[in-house]
Amino acid sequence: MAYTCVADGRFSVGVDITRDRVRCLVVNLERRVLVSRRTRREFERSESYVEFVGHEVAATIEESGVDRSLILGVGVAVPGLISESTGKVTYGRVIDNAGLSAADFARYIPYETRLVHDSEAAGFAEFWDRQTVDNAFYISLSKSVGGSVLIANGMYRGDGELAGEVGHMRIHDHGLRCYCGRDGCLDPYCNSGVLAQHTDGSIEDFFEGLSAGDPEAVEVWERYTSDLAIAVNNIRVMFGCTIILGGDVGAQGGSHLGDVRAKVDRLSFLEAPAETYLVPCSFTEHPIAVGAALYLVDEFRQNLDTALSLASRGSGGRMADGSRATDGPPDQ
Ligand SMILES: [Zn+2]
Repeated sequence: MAYTCVADGRFSVGVDITRDRVRCLVVNLERRVLVSRRTRREFERSESYVEFVGHEVAATIEESGVDRSLILGVGVAVPGLISESTGKVTYGRVIDNAGLSAADFARYIPYETRLVHDSEAAGFAEFWDRQTVDNAFYISLSKSVGGSVLIANGMYRGDGELAGEVGHMRIHDHGLRCYCGRDGCLDPYCNSGVLAQHTDGSIEDFFEGLSAGDPEAVEVWERYTSDLAIAVNNIRVMFGCTIILGGDVGAQGGSHLGDVRAKVDRLSFLEAPAETYLVPCSFTEHPIAVGAALYLVDEFRQNLDTALSLASRGSGGRMADGSRATDGPPDQ
């Protein structure tokens, strides 16, 4: 007897918190987004803010019509480094959230609640769909720059929470001031605001202008790609794997990737052209919130696989929640 996962057997909630808004959505076991909700609200360190997030989660679940007993939990993505041992934000200068933990949000969320690093969550949503890639580096180019690393099909976190923090890779001596307090980091050169500030904050408008040949956009993009190419080349030398450009810039600027590849090729000491390893992200629909939700889905599916293999060995194929028997071949 074989089993397949019932897509709507369980659901998970993902929350993406930024400086000025909260995105909340519900996904099923196959990553389909049932409902997504975006509410403007300035982040603040206060009880009323975490209570507000709890209300957003409740309202999103209500809107989805999903039976609350089928909710696996809630992944809350925030900018900032998170300690695996304490679950607290250990470095949070983007929105001043250092010290915040899942327990703070859990006071208003009646489900298992996880706190996750936003750029790692975006990478997780991307890796989820790339079954053929074992190793990859995801660069998140949004309001801040971050990254996540997939090695041997597992997320790599180094000895702590720092791995992949490419936003603080130093690319220029005596360069621009970064929010971390240092000078010359990649972040102030390649966050999405560097482009969007020329088009009233709209990254879509920036790329529209670039495609139309707007001279200002062309000049800004020229500088931007020169700086991004330094980082891509450094990452390639260190990891030697597929590099995915993600975040808002990766999602919107995929058709202009050739400009970045050409500059990376000029820096590379090897002949292998960047078009063989530098690719745009394929998952562009709220990757941070979806990725945050997927941690719980992934865990559930892995536990289910383990339980099913034990059950099939022990009793010849006992049914378990979220699965059903089929006559077809096993899909695992
Ligand atoms: Zn920095």
